[in-house]
Amino acid sequence: MDVGTGLLAGMPVRVWSRLAAAVVILLSCGACQKDSGKDSRDAPSGVVFVLVDALRADRLGCYGNPRPTSPNIDALVKRGTLFQNAITAAPWTLPTMATIWTSLNPSVHGATRISDLFQHDIRPVAKLDESRVTLAEVLKENGFKTGAFVDGTYCRKPFGMAQGFDVFLDAELPGIRLNVESMFDWLDREKPERFFAYLHTVEVHSPYSPAKLRPPKTETKDLVWQQIDSVLAEERDRYEEFNFDPGYEGKIHGYWTVAKKERRGLEPLSEPDQKQLFALYDRGIAYTDYWIGQVIEGLEKRGLLDRTIVVLTADHGDELMDHGGVEHGETFYDEMVRVPLVIRVPGLAEGRSIEQQVGLVDLKPSLLDLLDVPHDLRMQGRSFAPLMRGEDFAELPAFSEASIVPGEGSVRTRDWKYIKMHGGEELYDLRADPRELTNVCPTRADVCAEMAGQLRAWRKQNTEIAEQLVLPAAPKAEVDEETKERLRNLGYEE
Ligand SMILES: [Zn+2]
Repeated sequence: MDVGTGLLAGMPVRVWSRLAAAVVILLSCGACQKDSGKDSRDAPSGVVFVLVDALRADRLGCYGNPRPTSPNIDALVKRGTLFQNAITAAPWTLPTMATIWTSLNPSVHGATRISDLFQHDIRPVAKLDESRVTLAEVLKENGFKTGAFVDGTYCRKPFGMAQGFDVFLDAELPGIRLNVESMFDWLDREKPERFFAYLHTVEVHSPYSPAKLRPPKTETKDLVWQQIDSVLAEERDRYEEFNFDPGYEGKIHGYWTVAKKERRGLEPLSEPDQKQLFALYDRGIAYTDYWIGQVIEGLEKRGLLDRTIVVLTADHGDELMDHGGVEHGETFYDEMVRVPLVIRVPGLAEGRSIEQQVGLVDLKPSLLDLLDVPHDLRMQGRSFAPLMRGEDFAELPAFSEASIVPGEGSVRTRDWKYIKMHGGEELYDLRADPRELTNVCPTRADVCAEMAGQLRAWRKQNTEIAEQLVLPAAPKAEVDEETKERLRNLGYEE
């Protein structure tokens, strides 16, 4: 085991000690990019940002799944850049999406608390504050038309996520198809010179099932409602085509996972049940992949693909009993924090696979860089565009935090993962043990202590940066009497 490589090679130590002296210099400086000498006329003029909620990297063909879950994403990879080690900021949607849009770490932007009630009646407990500057806001200021077509919960308007969007389809249409079609309707209508389109999809998310008709809003016309219903029926048929375990007759179905209130310490699954759990999850991927193919085809047909950056990523992964649990939000193992990241920039790094580790916190500065949009934002991520251009790029450890069950977080290099969670410490040798099955903290106390120190230092820096940015505490939503009563009935104390 070579502690001379990766994390302990000196670079991070230098960065962190420099940070200790002057926190601000880690915040990337957009103004520094203004004199890069690039010709902005050559930069792409559109972005399609596809977020597949709860998609772990290793279930895609391009990351090694032998099952054909992702022919269209794999084809995109051949025309774009695949990031082998992209690490999310947090194991659930709200903190991660806020990090993607702001390039601030969760404990700095503050959108880190789970809501007590959601689904049909969203009452946010914490949301992304208006004072934070989002990617959409910066692009809009720079003349981009901005449109969001989202299906999901924590990616929605009540959580502060609509900031900067001209059009925000706020989970108004169920399922990926209707949102993809709405995105293209918007592009066809606006014919924008510069645009940022954001699609958020949840078919890969538990309960691992196709989109369902939601209770109609009062203003929805019956005819529209019937049309939606018939589209969803078609999509259910399409979803059925991707059944990877057709002979299964056991107890595992999509709702089994959400029905468990206490999700850890589950009984080990039988082999057929375990296989079915993976098959269910993979089915959502294959179905979603079909529509991602339609997105690429739609861009191509409109002549937009060669001036548009396409991003495909996820906010976090999902546990499929890899470490005794299901779903997401609690842990920092790779099935949770290592997310797919595919970026296609026309004419740049096509067909390249990048091993160097990057964070989702880096997406915003990277996109601004790739679009050649000047800015003077203070961000905690930094552009990885130099990596795509084949320039020097110093790799840094990636940190994650803000789990739903309070834990402290993790720090990852390509060699090691340190996790502080549930009151304990874990260390994994990712080269020898990529599935993180053997905690080597007791035998590698030196590495464990070093990384524990890194995590502590990072957390301290976040506190200092939050103070320096003088950002208000994340707002707490007002909860009315009726909701309080419902919370009491559900067993929540005030
Ligand atoms: Zn999510």
